[in-house]
Amino acid sequence: MKLKLLYSCLLVAGTAGFTFAQETVDTAMVSKIRNEGLNHSKVMETAFYLTDASGPRLSGSPELKHAQEWAVNQLKSWGLVNSAREPWGHFGKGWEVQKNYAAVTLPYYHAIIAIPKAWTPGTNGPVTGDVVLVKADTITDLDKYKGTLKGKIVIFDAKPGVERTYKADGVRYTDAELDEMTKPQEARQRGAFDRNSPAFRAAMKARTFRTVVNAFLQQEGVGLVLSQARGSDGTVFTTNGASYADTAKAVSPELETSGEDYQRILRLVKAGIPVKMEADIKTQFFTEDEQGYDVVAEIPGTDKKLKDQLVIIGGHLDSWHGATGGTDNAAGSAVMMEVMRILKAVNFKPRRTIRIALWSSEEQGLFGSRNYVLNHFGDPKTMELKPEQAKVSAYYNLDNGSGKIRGIYMQGDSTTAPIFKAWLAPFKDLGATTITNRNTGSTDHVSFDAVGIPGFQFIQDALDYGARTHHSNQDTYDKLSEDDLKQAATIVASFVYNTSQRDEMIPRKELPKPQPARN
Ligand SMILES: [Zn+2]
Repeated sequence: MKLKLLYSCLLVAGTAGFTFAQETVDTAMVSKIRNEGLNHSKVMETAFYLTDASGPRLSGSPELKHAQEWAVNQLKSWGLVNSAREPWGHFGKGWEVQKNYAAVTLPYYHAIIAIPKAWTPGTNGPVTGDVVLVKADTITDLDKYKGTLKGKIVIFDAKPGVERTYKADGVRYTDAELDEMTKPQEARQRGAFDRNSPAFRAAMKARTFRTVVNAFLQQEGVGLVLSQARGSDGTVFTTNGASYADTAKAVSPELETSGEDYQRILRLVKAGIPVKMEADIKTQFFTEDEQGYDVVAEIPGTDKKLKDQLVIIGGHLDSWHGATGGTDNAAGSAVMMEVMRILKAVNFKPRRTIRIALWSSEEQGLFGSRNYVLNHFGDPKTMELKPEQAKVSAYYNLDNGSGKIRGIYMQGDSTTAPIFKAWLAPFKDLGATTITNRNTGSTDHVSFDAVGIPGFQFIQDALDYGARTHHSNQDTYDKLSEDDLKQAATIVASFVYNTSQRDEMIPRKELPKPQPARN
């Protein structure tokens, strides 16, 4: 006998300001999903093949293609249909590192920790040279270096980026912090850059001048450029690379260097102690296929009326190239694949069709998900919608590291509160209790939200995502937390089950206004 437990919800005026409604949860299926997800998990195996076995999954790289093809076959092997790499449009040049060696040879030998900046060329064989400090705040300042920098290794003056901190890297939300998040708050776009702020304008000005300096150094024929990376203790956070566009201007080879190594070289040069370096950087550009691809696959719906409707889950599979993109975002990709495996393993025959999508080029601007939405559902710039837009009940995303789920962001729409509250209730013991009206941004659910499809990212414990792994050379399989990923896959599988089986689709906010492109 199927156990049905009615989660009677009370009108709790004034606590979290939500109105609850009747929502049904099938506890028998929830137990099956828990058992499969917590006791028979394959999430770490999947994560291994996406990280150690595939390598750094930079957009357009052979490594990302390898991971995509592996995922397509794995999803197929679990019985999913329509499993494929789906092109979303033109991306640009692919790129990978094929050799990365650099060391100080004078006043003594020291191999440095550094990563070639994405989409920069190699040194065209081994180079050796003196390290030269280039100090320039204006174009005129550059004049004094004209004709003096050929084959040199260039370093810039930079404040120590290495702040000593004795706080633990890894953190979990406290109950007080989670409680704070439940307080009603004006929905606000987290992470939105205030384009009018002096800080934003200064950053734009610095970026523009850096382009001028890059062109100058390239014309001078410098051997190598060193730039100081954010991070400490040998951790190198890679930033946005050079351009991957076909029209990209030529730049010099550049190494994003660990703070400790950069500051040591800089202190020596500033003290007038000659520094020599040797390096051999080899990188490869790929232009045969400049299309971008997303991985998609499905568990087909079975209900006559509802099978054409969709529940979509996803996360981005691309990563930066400093390591193997463990927590960003093999974690989210492996969890979403595991959700599909769990649902197949418990022999679930969904009413609505369930689709998984592993996006590419999220790191360059949500390109994989934005273009997927454009190709399938509608254009946020004009709000011209396609018929499919009305058939997606919800999109669930995971892309905040390896931490376990503590709840869900409602993206400014509290009408989903009673539903999600009921769906989280069976996982109180696993620490998932919180629903917040707040928005969270900067990842792929935003692409769905932009065309009026309910798109959600779960609240996750940060662990050492911000302090250590997010876009760094430390972002490896080792930084994944197995128990956290098992918990996440189990909870998402249950949400997907409930969304697929619910008579009604997930309630929708008012359709957003057209968002013309910003110049
Ligand atoms: Zn990410």
